[in-house]
Amino acid sequence: MKSLFNLLFLGSVLTGFAQNSPELKEADKILALFENIEQFENASSDEVTEHSSVYGITSENWDTENVKIDYDTKASFPLQIAFKDSNYVSPIGRDKVITSRFGWRWGRAHRGIDIDLVTGDSLYAMFDGIVRFANYSSGHGRTVVVRHYNGVETLYAHLSSYGVQANDTVRAGDFLGKGGRSGNARGSHLHLEMTYKGVHINPEYLLKFDENNDVNASELWVTKKWTRPELHSSRRQSKLELLTTEEELEAYLERPTEVYIVRKGDTLSRISAKNNVSITALCKTNHIRKNSTLRIGQKLVIEKTL
Ligand SMILES: [Zn+2]
Repeated sequence: MKSLFNLLFLGSVLTGFAQNSPELKEADKILALFENIEQFENASSDEVTEHSSVYGITSENWDTENVKIDYDTKASFPLQIAFKDSNYVSPIGRDKVITSRFGWRWGRAHRGIDIDLVTGDSLYAMFDGIVRFANYSSGHGRTVVVRHYNGVETLYAHLSSYGVQANDTVRAGDFLGKGGRSGNARGSHLHLEMTYKGVHINPEYLLKFDENNDVNASELWVTKKWTRPELHSSRRQSKLELLTTEEELEAYLERPTEVYIVRKGDTLSRISAKNNVSITALCKTNHIRKNSTLRIGQKLVIEKTL
């Protein structure tokens, strides 16, 4: 009886504000986050509030003119990213060949990953969301940015043509445009970025780029380490250590600082690559210079990056 009442109540909310009402939009949107009306009906009020706050994605710093935004509220670390589904839709319709990763490249930061394609290949939205930007951006060329309901934005760059406009609502798998090599691109490829409140996250910490299109976990804690290109190499996948629960996060935070003992043949760049830590950071933490000679058996502190 209670559920019938809820259903009727919901029905009246939806029909009662039928015309262009913000209330309807809100109810409709909240409903869209649940699989069906039963789920919505059985949800606690906390769950509904939670979903609606997640849903209000255009409410914060919605800017269709600029790729880069200064958010009023900054991301605080470690930040938590949640995914509604365990899969995403591949942005391209062919096997994903990663030609360059999130990391340090040619002496500068590469804040996305490059996926090989042929000019004219269709590109697809990876998750449901709303197109925030579809315009030319220097460097990135023709670019589409989609904001998703978990707050993450995906950016698709170097397009040859657009299939969407800013403010379009898209479902995962919807056509966004065609890939190409506009802007600063050495050859045709998709440059894909993932950000949260403007902070770039290594996409490989969040998603698996294989044929199954799995997200790495439904909930992930992102430490600063995964947002700093200088701690990663564009040529090699960084060792993944996923923090999926609060317990794992706490254990990570409580872990003592790691010490690395220099072995025969080690160089600073090798130690840096092995431990996912930049040479600059290694030098700073250990008060040594980039050209310092390392002794076998020497202990180096590996700074833990939150
Ligand atoms: Zn790139």
